[in-house]
Amino acid sequence: MVQETPGFTPVEDAYALPAEAVREQLGVDPDRGLGSHDVETRRQQAGPNRLPDPPRDNAVVRFLRHFNDVLIYVLLVAAVLTGILQEWVDMAVILVVVLVNAAIGFIQEGRAEKALEGIRDMLSATASVKRDGSWSTVDAEDLVPGDVVRLSAGDKIPADIRLLDAANMTSEESALTGESVPAEKSVPEVAEGAALGDRTSMVFSGSMLASGAGAGIVVETGPTAEIGRINEMMSEVETLETPLTRQVAVFSKWLSLGVLVVSVALVLVGWLVHGTDLLELLLAAVGFAVAAIPEGLPALITITLALGVQAMARQKAITRKLPAVQTLGSVTTICSDKTGTLTKNEMTVVRGVVGDLEFEVSGSGYDPHGSVTAGGQNLGLDHPALRPLAEAMGAVNDADLVEDEEGWKVVGEPTEGALRSFAAKLDLDRSSIGRRAVLPFSSDYKFMAATLELPGGDGACVMVKGAPDVLLSRSASQIDASGGARDLDREGWERRIQDLSDQGLRVLAAARRPARDGDTDALTPESLGQELQFVGVVGIVDPPRSEAITAVKACQEAGIVIKMITGDHAGTATAIARQMGIDDGAGAITGQELEEAGDDELRTLVRTHNVFARTSPEHKLRLVRALQAEGEVVAMTGDGVNDAPALRRADVGVAMGIKGTEVTKESAEVVLGDDNFSTIETAVEEGRRIYDNLRKAIVFLLPTNGAQSLVMLFAVFFGWTLPLTPLQILWVNMVTGVTLAFAFAFEPAEGDIMKRKPAAAGESIVRLRHIVQIAVASVLISGLTMGVFYWRLGAGDTLESARTVATTVLVAAQVVYLFNVKALETSSLHPRTFLNNKVAWLVVGILTALQLVFIYWPVFHEAFGTSDLQLVEIGMTAAAGVIVFLVMEMAKLIIYGRREAGAVVR
Ligand code: ATP
Repeated sequence: MVQETPGFTPVEDAYALPAEAVREQLGVDPDRGLGSHDVETRRQQAGPNRLPDPPRDNAVVRFLRHFNDVLIYVLLVAAVLTGILQEWVDMAVILVVVLVNAAIGFIQEGRAEKALEGIRDMLSATASVKRDGSWSTVDAEDLVPGDVVRLSAGDKIPADIRLLDAANMTSEESALTGESVPAEKSVPEVAEGAALGDRTSMVFSGSMLASGAGAGIVVETGPTAEIGRINEMMSEVETLETPLTRQVAVFSKWLSLGVLVVSVALVLVGWLVHGTDLLELLLAAVGFAVAAIPEGLPALITITLALGVQAMARQKAITRKLPAVQTLGSVTTICSDKTGTLTKNEMTVVRGVVGDLEFEVSGSGYDPHGSVTAGGQNLGLDHPALRPLAEAMGAVNDADLVEDEEGWKVVGEPTEGALRSFAAKLDLDRSSIGRRAVLPFSSDYKFMAATLELPGGDGACVMVKGAPDVLLSRSASQIDASGGARDLDREGWERRIQDLSDQGLRVLAAARRPARDGDTDALTPESLGQELQFVGVVGIVDPPRSEAITAVKACQEAGIVIKMITGDHAGTATAIARQMGIDDGAGAITGQELEEAGDDELRTLVRTHNVFARTSPEHKLRLVRALQAEGEVVAMTGDGVNDAPALRRADVGVAMGIKGTEVTKESAEVVLGDDNFSTIETAVEEGRRIYDNLRKAIVFLLPTNGAQSLVMLFAVFFGWTLPLTPLQILWVNMVTGVTLAFAFAFEPAEGDIMKRKPAAAGESIVRLRHIVQIAVASVLISGLTMGVFYWRLGAGDTLESARTVATTVLVAAQVVYLFNVKALETSSLHPRTFLNNKVAWLVVGILTALQLVFIYWPVFHEAFGTSDLQLVEIGMTAAAGVIVFLVMEMAKLIIYGRREAGAVVR
């Protein structure tokens, strides 16, 4: 055994050295891997396996960036104007508005970025590493030079690795070499000085394993890896920009232009028509401009999205791309894998058939203890037909079983775990079997094969385990009860397989043939041939997840069709789909039938059928296309490397966080932290909630600006006394803008959110009916404000008092309108509206306190021209609030019609 030494000597040109020399130089025994103490010292020496963070703009620059917005430019121009006019208080208030807004933007952006960073951390890559003699999964960041790692197709290569073992391995290295065709990899060293693309004995950090499997020793990590040298960040950096924020930016530009035009018109009309004092007019125009501009909108959208995706991540749905949130809300079809997503992926072999012998298997989970019996009699490895079945199932297998406090677990694939446990119940000793060449499992050909050196001098033998129909079609004979060969009874097997599948069991078969020349070096699907001897089958239970059954129902109620797309047998798939309410009796379409169908026929099939079985990854792509051609908005799940194109093509690609390969995750919009279908349902629900809240924030915010600007417009155009001074308008704008709207980032979902039909794809977030509501609310609130003002003025109140009432009415109306918008298209007359969002009350409390200061603090009387209000005036304000609430409720009823608020409260 190699002695582990603390620390290590970096290996130069590992690609040009024999694997053995690299191993020796790095002081590691591939059968044991490094020890934990050694890992620690090496980590201190080499540092963590990550690239330095890209330089980030400093805080001042990031703060200043918040001033780079057309809306803010308009405000700054207004401030300069007031400065020139020497209206210092006005100028100060405008500058406070700008600064507060930038500060909020800055803080919220920080929070948003933190939220996304947290999500990125959840997606950090892992590696399968051998340490202290056993395999475990660690964060790729924890790898050190000398670590022995295992690689399989779809893995993101976690470090620069010298290969020790490579089966059919190709690696996609375009990030490093620019070459998009995957490079073949093998163990032998290459000549010193070879170009990066020719170093076939190594795989490099930043590339992806396109096919095959193998193992190797880490030689370079972090910045010393090749990718570090070219100094390029691989991980996609998520930005806070989405189609929605871009739409808002465009809207802001047009709005600013409109505001400028109206401001100029306002000054001209006041001056030329009414002969108003120019200075007063200029200030009124400034007040109007500030009032009309929803300067808080961009920050509000960003934070609502970011907090939303953070809430989704807490529920294990990790959004990689912000725009997906929007699309999730309009998904009409979810195509889901079966195994592990709809089912528990806790597999146990329960019965099987070998030769003519039908047997039962006892035990539960992955516990390798239990018995194999037939007719009440215990069976063991001495059974001549059962032995090869155990050998194929147990040794053509990469899974390990380990026991911890919670019981027996599988390290590797659950299917393989079940087969390992089955072989262990027959007392198969895997260490006595030598494995020569391996053909790794792929969902494309649906089997795994290995050349085995069996004990007892039988010589080498090629053993295969995989999908029974595939192995049957490659078999020419079958094993008999005594272990000899006889003619293949194809129909008999098909019947048995159908029987087991109809019980919802996952069926795997085993087959074998004697080894030929070359089999000990390499196996390929072609070299396996069509002359196998069929050994037998086993049936594995994999029960549906109960929460997935509930989630399927919830999605169906939400107008979303669920389709199961699985690599499994049609019988098994249909049986499970029936149990879960996915299949309505139409049955399954198989991959072969899909292949035979033309594009038009396929479009019919995706309408009429919900179960697609024995599919391979390319079928997924065709299915997505056909569904999209039928106008569906499709979410598609995937885990394997070949699922990436379908995920990319789908409207929302959903990758499995646990069993998904890195490649799949990188092509997905959403990654499921728990591989569970019910999490997709949660994501859809959250997506709908976030989208709803964005819409609510907009429908709330715009009338507050609309009402404020209408008040100014009317008064100046008609030459009336201004109900609010420009300064008071600025005040209202500042205090409502920084408080109320943020309530919507925390608004829970409406009760009927999963009872509605999906939003139409590509529809604008604010529809015509919402614009009508915005207009009605703007006119109502401004009308009330002006009405109260002119009434009080006419009734003999002082100008200060009438203006203070008007300002307070405007503020109160906005507070009340918040509650109208909380239930946007249904009635707000429901206790829920007032009880389900603490933040709403918090911001209302803050706003009330600020407004009381405004009304009663003598300093403000001076600065803002306000005066104390009497109880009766406060009463008037409250009455105005009630009027706004009731009129808006009526308006909503007319605009949206009567729709029952959902009975379900989540
Ligand atoms: P889903 O597509 O719903 O995840 P699946 O796991 O059945 O279901 P694949 O992984 O594509 O889909 O597997 C297809 C078939 O290949 C399985 O039904 C099984 O018969 C066979 N199979 C799966 N895993 C292995 C394995 N590790 N070794 C050999 N054969 C396997």
